[in-house]
Amino acid sequence: MATAKEHLEKFIKNDIYDYGTKRDFPSIKGTSKLSPFIRNGQIGVKTIYNQCVKLKSKNISVRKYINELGWREFSHSLINYFPQMLKGNLRKEFDKFPWINDKKKLSLWKKGMTGYPIVDAGMRELYETGWMHNRIRMVVGSFLVKHLRINWQEGEKYFRNCLFDFNEANNVAQWQWVAGCGADAAPYFRIFNPILQGEKFDKEGEYVKKWVPELKKVPQKFIHKPWEMEKKYQEAINTVIGRDYPKPIVIHEVARKEALEAFQSLKKKN
Ligand SMILES: Cc1cc2nc3c(=O)[nH]c(=O)nc-3n(C[C@H](O)[C@H](O)[C@H](O)COP(=O)(O)OP(=O)(O)OC[C@H]3O[C@@H](n4cnc5c(N)ncnc54)[C@H](O)[C@@H]3O)c2cc1C
Repeated sequence: MATAKEHLEKFIKNDIYDYGTKRDFPSIKGTSKLSPFIRNGQIGVKTIYNQCVKLKSKNISVRKYINELGWREFSHSLINYFPQMLKGNLRKEFDKFPWINDKKKLSLWKKGMTGYPIVDAGMRELYETGWMHNRIRMVVGSFLVKHLRINWQEGEKYFRNCLFDFNEANNVAQWQWVAGCGADAAPYFRIFNPILQGEKFDKEGEYVKKWVPELKKVPQKFIHKPWEMEKKYQEAINTVIGRDYPKPIVIHEVARKEALEAFQSLKKKN
């Protein structure tokens, strides 16, 4: 097994120059996967940073990678200056947000049974391996807080129990970023469409088919919206939606509209 230092050297030699173009695709190894080593104290961020700045040629990918290290530092300084973030919303107006306490949907999200293939693939990968790609963390996070309107703290708690790179500062700051209640947060009205995210970042459906094997026979055109396949065709490939794989637990357009209304109501309350 490679040591943290060997892992870093290999990443710098083979992958860092393509980081910017490959980092968003969960079916390829486009990121450094150094977070578990950092979490366990096997390598320090300063060592990684020093190796990167030593590189003679720093293309946009190298700079992007250094930026990501900066996000980690940002999360840690946020928690240092605002430790109350560990217990609740940084932006206090979110204390009045109308979250939905739906244990059934929360459980389906955790099990990877939402009926949205990219979300389910991520949640199953997390449960089986303790790992999830950053792009997919954003997609499943957004789905939980925006489509299901379940409090981000439920997601944070679940990630805390599952992620083997779990880090309190990164996890809390990132969940608040996703929910829109943190510092420099993604605006609440920017709602990821799980179908389009899948089509953009897992075009061929490789990642989905790996973690959601019951969708193996689904053609590329439908891999991120299998419910749109004709019933006859579902029978023919023995992948009946509602029998072999769940129907979507919420309809994207409806959930999106309701989330936006909830956000508007928050504005009126404050
Ligand atoms: C909802 C959510 C929860 C998260 N929880 C954690 C967590 O518990 N622990 C954790 O280490 N990261 C967390 N992240 C951030 C990010 O997903 C991981 O750091 C990254 O996926 C680790 O993979 P990597 O080492 O291959 O990253 P690379 O892309 O190779 O990045 C290199 C290093 O930069 C840092 N980094 C990269 N992206 C981020 C980011 N968005 N925020 C902060 N630091 C970053 C990490 O230390 C990472 O190891 C979370 C992100 C989201 C959206």
